[in-house]
Amino acid sequence: MYIGCHLSIAKGYENAAKAALDIGANVFQFFSRNPRGSSSKELDLEDIDKMNTILKENEFGPLLAHAPYIINLASYKGNIYGMAKGILKEDYERLNKLGIPYFTFHPGNHVGKGAEYGIQRIADALNEIITGNENTILLLETMAGQGTEVGHTFEEMRAIIDKVKHNELLGICLDTCHIHAAGYNIVEELDMVLDEFDKTIGIDRLKAIHLNDSMMEYGSKKDRHAKIGEGTIGIDAIKNIINYPQLRDLPFYLETPNELKGYKEEIELLKGLRS
Ligand code: FE
Ligand code: FE
Ligand code: ZN
Repeated sequence: MYIGCHLSIAKGYENAAKAALDIGANVFQFFSRNPRGSSSKELDLEDIDKMNTILKENEFGPLLAHAPYIINLASYKGNIYGMAKGILKEDYERLNKLGIPYFTFHPGNHVGKGAEYGIQRIADALNEIITGNENTILLLETMAGQGTEVGHTFEEMRAIIDKVKHNELLGICLDTCHIHAAGYNIVEELDMVLDEFDKTIGIDRLKAIHLNDSMMEYGSKKDRHAKIGEGTIGIDAIKNIINYPQLRDLPFYLETPNELKGYKEEIELLKGLRS
């Protein structure tokens, strides 16, 4: 199985790959740039080459980059919208050059303008960003529906995808904590949730899973990650998710509140739950 977690690339890509190996991971996620600031890391192709050697020798799965949280592609404010587009485009171009297969981002917050406005705004931005010549697939992350978040229903995701010209380069990153909080019953009705996903978006769009338990109740619309087995999703539902026929071959990335040691233990636990 492809299982890993979010790792820092502050000390470079090769070091991140070594850290992944140390904790028994064979995939990982990293921020496309410093999550709080806006400075991007310069291209270090030598470092990337060294990382790629490690990935190849150890049969890693696809790496996933995550856009900074600060960007809002649904904003009605020109300066915020412009900055968000600039950051996403710059990072998308760099990740393409580096050959990173997946790049996920939070669709955006409409801040009172309504979901429909937000959806159009996000799609317009993506139409400026995606030229159609890229290889990296951009993933819309399923959201909890906190505040004015766009993308907490499968219908909203579908609406964004439909408005993007080169949507062959769009996919979905499903966050288990988020969709549980959004009101999709992955604990008791995973089959029905995936069926709905397939009918609304198409299961082929699903490329990555953020595997997290949730501190908040089902349908709470609140985004608080819990350690695996310590939240309202629970270990039985997590076991079902990682073994489920339509999901089991996808890469799983933990974003649980852990240091490396905790991630190592969770990865071991999850490998033990594979059937
Ligand atoms: Fe995220
Ligand atoms: Fe996530
Ligand atoms: Zn979250």
